Amino acid sequence: MEYKVNKKVSILSILVIAILSTSFSAAVLAATDGSLTVYSTRKEHLIKPLFDAFTKKTGIEVKYLTGNGGALIERIKLEGKRTKADMFMTVDAGNLWYAASQNLFQPVESEVLINNIPVHLRDPEGLWTGLSVRARTIIYSTDRVNAEELSTYQDLASNKWKGRLCLRTSKKVYTKSLVASLIHHDGQKATTEVVKGWVDNLAATPNAEDTHVMSAILAGQCDVGIVNTYYFGRLQAEKPNVALKLFWANQGSTGTHVNISGAGVTKYSSNKEGSIRLLEFLSSIEAQKIYVKLNKEYPASQKLKADNLIAQWGDFNQDKMNLSVAGKNQAEAVALMQREGYR
Ligand code: FE
Repeated sequence: MEYKVNKKVSILSILVIAILSTSFSAAVLAATDGSLTVYSTRKEHLIKPLFDAFTKKTGIEVKYLTGNGGALIERIKLEGKRTKADMFMTVDAGNLWYAASQNLFQPVESEVLINNIPVHLRDPEGLWTGLSVRARTIIYSTDRVNAEELSTYQDLASNKWKGRLCLRTSKKVYTKSLVASLIHHDGQKATTEVVKGWVDNLAATPNAEDTHVMSAILAGQCDVGIVNTYYFGRLQAEKPNVALKLFWANQGSTGTHVNISGAGVTKYSSNKEGSIRLLEFLSSIEAQKIYVKLNKEYPASQKLKADNLIAQWGDFNQDKMNLSVAGKNQAEAVALMQREGYR
């Protein structure tokens, strides 16, 4: 947006407007003063369309650097006050929580974010916010499993799944966050029993990727597993008749475990106002639609419906545990899985 000053407007009234209206001056500053830089673990094809839409709307250019989460966090720490990063963007609340614990973020207060993003998907101190939702739930072979046999993550530890279960490795943050949520809901003792049962039921060594869990079920190595739904979405887009189906876990109790991709404004951002505008834009309906289309994730904003493919998987209740708990319980989850031999 361009601001043209009418010469007839007195200098005094300009001054009054400038002093009284901080949001006005912030908007001018952000629109005329430089670009934003985002460090992101999300790949270019998943973020560029979002940034392009933001630039089109605001005129603010967004530069970005993509890479490995650990390396980017170290880089921001090392750059300190001189960092170019205005925002750090990543997946999984466990990772966002870790970045916050490394003092990477500054708190953001935004009515727009509060209105657009449900409270369980945001850090209680405003250090980061979820921008898209991924559900981690049960997947099963339609050839060998009847949906009526399924119920909860915990039930996958029961005897009837002996030798029929495939899981992703405990090293992956997705697994850590899920187990962290079980500790939150059921306590350490009950969760230890569940993890022990999972390990006993494994048909094979834990898989490196969610996609491998699906391949193993299709190959007949196991009958049931746990995956993030967008991996199934991608597979289903390629093979509509694939003999796998999602089951919404824990609908009768805590709700299905969800996680987020999200972002926070860095502590030493040189353009906090612009960064907040970007966060707010990413939470808007316009941007949320792009998120859903790009990665078959669920919108974080509850104002938007899922797209056609994921809508056909049906509605489900999300676990409303505040996702900062996934970070807080992470070390305990890791220790517990190690003790029980979950590799
Ligand atoms: Fe993933």
